[in-house]
Amino acid sequence: MGSLDLKSIKKSFGPMDVIKGVDLNVAHGEFVVFVGPSGCGKSTLLRIIAGLEEQTSGDIAIDGRTVNVTPPAKRGIAMVFQSYALYPHLTVEKNMGLALQQEGVAKGEIETRVAKAAALLRLEALLQRRPAELSGGQRQRVAIGRAIVRQPSLFLFDEPLSNLDAALRVGTRIEIAKLHRQLGATMVYVTHDQIEAMTLADKIVVLNAGLIEQVGAPLELYNSPANLFVAGFIGSPT
Ligand code: ADP
Ligand code: MG
Repeated sequence: MGSLDLKSIKKSFGPMDVIKGVDLNVAHGEFVVFVGPSGCGKSTLLRIIAGLEEQTSGDIAIDGRTVNVTPPAKRGIAMVFQSYALYPHLTVEKNMGLALQQEGVAKGEIETRVAKAAALLRLEALLQRRPAELSGGQRQRVAIGRAIVRQPSLFLFDEPLSNLDAALRVGTRIEIAKLHRQLGATMVYVTHDQIEAMTLADKIVVLNAGLIEQVGAPLELYNSPANLFVAGFIGSPT
């Protein structure tokens, strides 16, 4: 569960071609990181996978099933954004369970899933707090918890650590790596931070101006960058 296939994905906004033909296969359970400079199309590609944006052309399959026109809620995906977007008036527990409640999941089942996610993310003691009573790192963990309770086979992360200070960034990064091992889900993760990419990824996808420059394991890119752009971006001192 959770494999992803992109075929000739293109996206234009008016006259501007933002994604110019992306092909990519992500295997079940893989941790794939998209890196590339600001404006190269990372978020747009992620939003297309999630169904929040429609591709201009090309095909998307999840678990071998074409989802080109499948609405976001039916894709078996959960997305974690850079901004946590928690409901300020709801407790941590309610924030984590809300989407399930809206999907009509039974109350007992919601409680079980929220408790499990809270344990995974060490949020048990914070369940009755409101977002204003949490640190930035705790809020981001709640946002991740909100994704976990939906039990997706595919997680999408868009720069989830970029609003955290340096110390919290490292802690939360380790948390995400641990989650990947424990859940065995597929993760597609966007960052412009080389260290995050090198430490988290099974496979790095280097994007530049709407095209893939190179795909490979972190050390592969580090040792054999396909071109100067990749070398510069992965930080190999050639
Ligand atoms: P990244 O996440 O890599 O920084 P984005 O995917 O956000 O890049 O943006 C890629 C390009 O597409 C940018 O030039 C951005 O201005 C443009 N873009 C993104 N979303 C829209 C939109 N809804 N309408 C018009 N242009 C957009
Ligand atoms: Mg972005």
